[in-house]
Amino acid sequence: MADDLAHSYDVDLFVIGGGSGGVRAARIAAGHGARVQLAEEYRVGGTCVIRGCVPKKLMVYAGRFADEFADAAGFGWDVPAPRFDWRVLKARRDAEVARLEGIYDTNLGKAGVTVVADRAVIEDAHTVRLVGADKRVTARFILIAVGAEPVKEPLIPGAELAITSNEVFELETLPERILVVGGGYIAVEFAGVFAHLGARTTLLHRGDKLLRGFDEEVRDALDAACAHRMDLRLNRMVERLDKVENGIRATLDDGTILEVDQVLTATGRRPKISGLGLDAVGIEPDARGAIPVDAYSQTKVPSIYAVGDVTDRAALTPIAIREGHAFADTVFGNKPWCVDHGLIPTAVFSTPEIGVVGHNEDVARKHFGAIDVYRSSFRPMKATLSGRDERVLMKVIVDCASDRVVGVHVVGHDAGEIIQAVGIAVTMGATKADFDRTIAVHPTAGEELVTMR
Ligand code: NDP
Repeated sequence: MADDLAHSYDVDLFVIGGGSGGVRAARIAAGHGARVQLAEEYRVGGTCVIRGCVPKKLMVYAGRFADEFADAAGFGWDVPAPRFDWRVLKARRDAEVARLEGIYDTNLGKAGVTVVADRAVIEDAHTVRLVGADKRVTARFILIAVGAEPVKEPLIPGAELAITSNEVFELETLPERILVVGGGYIAVEFAGVFAHLGARTTLLHRGDKLLRGFDEEVRDALDAACAHRMDLRLNRMVERLDKVENGIRATLDDGTILEVDQVLTATGRRPKISGLGLDAVGIEPDARGAIPVDAYSQTKVPSIYAVGDVTDRAALTPIAIREGHAFADTVFGNKPWCVDHGLIPTAVFSTPEIGVVGHNEDVARKHFGAIDVYRSSFRPMKATLSGRDERVLMKVIVDCASDRVVGVHVVGHDAGEIIQAVGIAVTMGATKADFDRTIAVHPTAGEELVTMR
């Protein structure tokens, strides 16, 4: 590049944001011999490690013990009334998050990446300014990996009384009564956690079913399970929130009043581009506020790339990691490759858990025309002795023309674990005949996937 020959930059790569995508890109680029600097204004690890997937999953585990204690009696155990201490969970969870943050930091150091605890703003195609230090750094390439942040909607009177998935990890006590607003991943997961830990939980969603975009039967199964466990209110909106002596009063659009201790809004996340300096380089965000990039994560400015949630391709940690890796190999490793966003196995850590790979039934029907749908809904073996009223749902969707399995949906214990393995087969293009000739592992729930006829 003539441009590069004419300039000597302070670093080869400046990464803005120390989350999943930025950290992976920085380490891989450094491994390819690049001089890399990374700025993180909050904590290294990003949303996933600090206030997302990791601490959330630890809380999901905590909540599920409630069922284990209750179910144990059916297997002959006499469990004294268990008591839960939020402070113990919080302290242990926070310590684990701090441990992981330290590992991320150490690994960046070992890879030769310089980490600066500062906010970085783009000044031109090759320059960032570190706001705290008021210092400029020039870079041959800039990678934007700043992620996304929770939106605070609906914008109603009293909205400031609600917390988001950022503040939920800071709660010092378990709320006795909580209202969770939203019907997506985050709302469903946190409502489940709070309900299991013993909070009186209301989950309120504006739609007629939770988890828009998921398979209709999966949604029905989740709605039924949530209605069993918590106060589920569908087709409802909150009109206002007011501070009252004993907490927060929520007025719903049907006039109902709810009094709770906390309100958690989980109504989506948006790319965190405010104040990043995109105007300075002429990068215009799209209608969703995301940074437009090509398949190689390059923006319209050739020296500036973006990966992860800020590009809103699929707001999932493993995708950000892969995009960061592909960027670094492409730009610094002379090994160009790009991420296939077509087939993404995913899990929702609700209880029951949901695991999905491929198309839902409606989309598959539109896409392929003739499809076969195999479904199995059954009581899991453990529930026979525990007496728990629960069901597992499994669905396998097959394109008739090719016999390929184009969608697998699991609702039940370990659905995330099951779908990770099935995801390999589906990614490889497995047919229904391949599923059928796979020997069942007995007795498991997963064996249903290879025994449905
Ligand atoms: P989602 O986009 O998944 O869901 C947002 C929810 O809020 C929807 O139910 C939506 O309703 C509702 N909503 C949006 N705006 C309003 C409004 N103004 N008033 C009332 N309700 C509203 O966002 P999340 O915040 O749950 O999660 C963000 C992303 O984080 C996810 O898309 C996912 O990619 C990622 N994530 C992944 C996890 C995992 O892999 N397990 C866990 C957590 C997050 P409607 O459906 O009607 O639009």
